[in-house]
Amino acid sequence: MKPLQHTNSYYAASINEVNNYPELKGHQTTDICIIGAGFSGISAGLHLSELGYKVTIIEANKIGWGASGRNGGEIIGGFSGDDVMQKKNNTNDADLIWDMRWEGNDIIRNRVKQYDINCDLKWGYLDVAIKKRHIKSLESSYEDMQKHQYPHDISLLDKQETSNLIGTDAYIGSLLNMGNGHVHSLNLCIGEAKAAAALGATIYEQSPVIKIDKENKPKIHTASGSISANTLLLAGNAYHQLDKKMRNFIIPVNSFVIATEPLSDEIIQKINPKDFAVCDPNYILEYFRLTGDKRLLFGTRLNYDGNDESYMKSELRKKMLRIYPDLNNVKIDYAWTGKIGVTINHIPQLGKLAPNVFYSQGYSGHGVNMTHLAGKIMAEAISGTMKRFDLFNDIRPIAVPGTHLIQRPLLSLGVMLYKIRDLL
Ligand SMILES: Cc1cc2nc3c(=O)[nH]c(=O)nc-3n(C[C@H](O)[C@H](O)[C@H](O)COP(=O)(O)OP(=O)(O)OC[C@H]3O[C@@H](n4cnc5c(N)ncnc54)[C@H](O)[C@@H]3O)c2cc1C
Repeated sequence: MKPLQHTNSYYAASINEVNNYPELKGHQTTDICIIGAGFSGISAGLHLSELGYKVTIIEANKIGWGASGRNGGEIIGGFSGDDVMQKKNNTNDADLIWDMRWEGNDIIRNRVKQYDINCDLKWGYLDVAIKKRHIKSLESSYEDMQKHQYPHDISLLDKQETSNLIGTDAYIGSLLNMGNGHVHSLNLCIGEAKAAAALGATIYEQSPVIKIDKENKPKIHTASGSISANTLLLAGNAYHQLDKKMRNFIIPVNSFVIATEPLSDEIIQKINPKDFAVCDPNYILEYFRLTGDKRLLFGTRLNYDGNDESYMKSELRKKMLRIYPDLNNVKIDYAWTGKIGVTINHIPQLGKLAPNVFYSQGYSGHGVNMTHLAGKIMAEAISGTMKRFDLFNDIRPIAVPGTHLIQRPLLSLGVMLYKIRDLL
């Protein structure tokens, strides 16, 4: 595994502060070793550092190199499969699960403030409806949130009100939620890593882990060093290739994003004057928002597993123009792809491989909020409070042997089936 630099994205081109961390050399010891410096690893590392543990985070490439530094930056409450988990559990646990739904958003909000992280954090998000059944589902979410005394402003909007806010007739209504929002995810991840380092965490970059010993006192190995730890946390998610058993727990699915050139004030006033994030309800969903420097960032999934920039630009541009035909003359400056870790039951996987070896992964495309909560739950578990960890750990991951080998046909089939479901 050769260490890599960030993928060519809008995010990488607009990093606020470059912090280079050294490569691991020689043998080190630590309380907790975390493999992977995306949101899962960094969030857990920061929580554990706040609790006073000696934490070491080891990253194959750069901080936020994976999905965390490439995503749509949409901070969406809830987590994939939360409704299923709520139904499965008794009333007390169902309430506990409800309370967790927006906790990740709060963690982001508090951290950005506490550690003064410059990451274009904005609040305000529209869940838009395309079909009548989507309106029903938004109404039911609204009622549910009212019932649980959701602390942020929410309102149901009709077609015209939605169009007034986001300058398109593509949607028949929406739910505006001021407790969701959007962020420059790579700058958030880099800022959180810096905060963990300031609290004493040791971070290594450009250091792919090539072997893990899971017995008694876990030990990890890179080409030029090793770390012995009391506890190990695997946070490589869809990029994790090391542990064979875990490789079968999640399906890595490619997702795609483009960013336009910065838009004029006139266009901004027309398409998104309030600077809200937008997401549709389809399985093969489309989402968009403005960046800090007023580009339109637009993302979706494609039945494609390459990373040809001109192909990605042209395919996503067509989809963007269906919503905003007036952007026809706007240049697309960036296109990139990243891997989402999708689980078979769509529920995130927080579990253990051995007594001192934990893992957290598989947020199924809904991870900006959930990784922040997962980091906290992993920190609780590692420090001995198992209640919330057990809610997830009790759901055995469904393994699909050989997913990484048959990824391409599996992905095509999945995209096709989900497209059909979206049409119904
Ligand atoms: C294109 C795209 C758009 C998305 N949009 C959204 C969105 O708008 N909202 C939302 O909520 N979610 C979104 N997601 C999902 C979200 O980004 C992820 O769920 C989340 O970032 C996962 O974080 P993570 O830390 O678990 O994994 P990652 O960020 O992928 O981090 C894993 C890290 O582990 C490292 N690693 C792996 N193996 C090793 C090894 N052997 N040694 C050392 N390091 C290793 C990798 O290099 C990588 O940096 C999107 C994802 C993608 C790809």
